[in-house]
Amino acid sequence: MINKNPIRIFILGGGFGGLYTALQLSRSSWVQSGKCEIAIVERNDHFLFTPLLYELITGELQRWVIAPSYQKLLAQTPVKFCRNTVKHINFNDRQVALENGDQLSYDYLVLGVGTENRWVDIPGLKTHALTFRTLDDVERLQGQIHLLEKSDSRCLRVAVIGGGPSGVELSCKLADRLGQRGEVILIERGTQILKGFSQGVRSASYRALGNRRVQVYLQTNVKAINANSITITRHEQEVIIPIHQVIWVAGTQSIPWITRLGVQYNEQGKILTGSSLQLIDYPNVFALGDIAEIYHSTQTIPNTAQAAYQQANCVAKNLVAILEGKKLKSFRYSHLGDMLTLGKYSAVVSSYFLNIDGLLGFVIRALAYIFRLPTRRHKIQVLRNLLQKVLLKVRWFFRWRLTQFLSQRSAKNY
Ligand SMILES: Cc1cc2nc3c(=O)[nH]c(=O)nc-3n(C[C@H](O)[C@H](O)[C@H](O)COP(=O)(O)OP(=O)(O)OC[C@H]3O[C@@H](n4cnc5c(N)ncnc54)[C@H](O)[C@@H]3O)c2cc1C
Repeated sequence: MINKNPIRIFILGGGFGGLYTALQLSRSSWVQSGKCEIAIVERNDHFLFTPLLYELITGELQRWVIAPSYQKLLAQTPVKFCRNTVKHINFNDRQVALENGDQLSYDYLVLGVGTENRWVDIPGLKTHALTFRTLDDVERLQGQIHLLEKSDSRCLRVAVIGGGPSGVELSCKLADRLGQRGEVILIERGTQILKGFSQGVRSASYRALGNRRVQVYLQTNVKAINANSITITRHEQEVIIPIHQVIWVAGTQSIPWITRLGVQYNEQGKILTGSSLQLIDYPNVFALGDIAEIYHSTQTIPNTAQAAYQQANCVAKNLVAILEGKKLKSFRYSHLGDMLTLGKYSAVVSSYFLNIDGLLGFVIRALAYIFRLPTRRHKIQVLRNLLQKVLLKVRWFFRWRLTQFLSQRSAKNY
């Protein structure tokens, strides 16, 4: 019997947590039969596969590969898409307030709105530094690089602040993009870059940074940023360095409205959930990805796409379990490894005891991420496009070898 009032599930945020929950849930018989309706509420019109964002800087990938529109992704699914910005949630009335004044009534809710850039009190930071999280950020950075490349300056100096994975990956890509004219400085406050990563990943990263002449300043504090310079303290000395562009990639923080919802939080403002990823006081609400932490968990779950993707699978299964009156699963995170891009056509892949870097690392990382792209249709389109490019390169190579061979032979005969 088809229910005239389908169960309404709203998924707030169409990122790694939200989109993959929706896609997995859309395959359940509850959604397929129309007994249950799902909708994603998202402020952007496109999904963003953030691990591949760096490839836009070097032109290795095009925008459509890493930022497909929701319209395209959800076209052959029963998932509805509502482009809007969430302002508030009233958990007692089961209502979501949107920026345009609309209210959505839900039966079940999934919170996956992610985090935002963390800003600190450095004079000039917000005015002069660029950030690197969204497509708009990439466009702004591309515009700036383009201007620098067209300028008369012999040396183009860029400072990247934050020695985490984003800082390291971005520094390598920028160094490759700017080439001989480029001078990239990576600034980290701590004693090491890539805190929490294995020695293998760190060594490969230092090698890649060194090969690209990226200067790594450790134990360095940024004091002020101006239009054309940056003031730092290093080895207890204050130094002013002329700089063309500063990029701030030093951490994330909870979105302010999320921290004012009146639910239970950890010290960093992350929403606390039970092991099934349900909110502690609201079992019909799930939270996942960067905004959530499991209360009293024995595992440390990182703020990564990998973790959000695994949680999406758990949330989708638990929603179906609730609808079917079955027992809910506890979330267990399994760390499959780390992958970092280290410049054009180069990456490090570290999984269990294996560390592979360079071109082979690049190929493994590329294939792993293609496999993780949302929807089979999009994966096939990307794979087909990649194969075409590889075939063109192979054809070009054989033509070039043939021309060489023929010209050598005619030179001999002559
Ligand atoms: C440059 C970069 C590179 C990264 N590289 C890697 C990597 O290599 N490997 C890895 O595992 N992780 C990586 N990460 C981290 C990874 O992107 C996050 O951990 C992951 O996206 C978290 O998933 P999420 O669903 O919690 O949030 P997100 O994927 O950030 O999704 C949140 C969504 O909510 C939407 N949203 C936010 N506020 C609202 C609102 N008020 N109303 C409506 N919609 C809203 C956003 O537009 C967004 O689409 C990277 C992150 C960045 C920025």
